[in-house]
Amino acid sequence: MKQFEFVSGSPDTTMDFSKRLAERLMPGDVLTLEGDLGAGKTTFTKGLAQGLGIQRNVSSPTFTIIKEYMGRMPLYHMDVYRVEDSFEDLGFDEYFEGKGVTVVEWAHLIEDQLPEERLQIDIRHGEAGSRMLILKPYGVRYEELCKEILG
Ligand code: ADP
Ligand code: MG
Repeated sequence: MKQFEFVSGSPDTTMDFSKRLAERLMPGDVLTLEGDLGAGKTTFTKGLAQGLGIQRNVSSPTFTIIKEYMGRMPLYHMDVYRVEDSFEDLGFDEYFEGKGVTVVEWAHLIEDQLPEERLQIDIRHGEAGSRMLILKPYGVRYEELCKEILG
């Protein structure tokens, strides 16, 4: 599979990048974020929210699993770190197929429930506090999206 890379030297650069991505997103789009604690998954989501015109501050939804924000369309922000049973159906599909964009932190923990088509983004620590964002598009739509912003 084709993958795309982006190196970010600061939290602001990560947010600018996800903001730019957000401007091209459509209802029903699903982004999955992977990376250690402190990698920048929530930081990425903050930029995404900005790009969707959301005014409210986005914080980690660790204790609620799903938080919903309203912008030019809804943003469903999930952090599934604390989901005990990866097969437990918490109604994720309704979000994935909903009228907004879904972003899932620690998505591999609910791998079997993820839609086939999605944009997976792995965030890794790089040198001098930088981050490497590795984008893996599952589906033509997401591949085109990656090409548009990074091609
Ligand atoms: P996660 O949600 O993956 O646990 P957070 O986004 O909550 O991570 O935290 C990432 C931390 O790393 C923040 O304190 C952020 O300021 C810092 N940081 C430093 N450099 C970067 C970068 N290039 N991109 C994103 N975050 C960065
Ligand atoms: Mg987080």
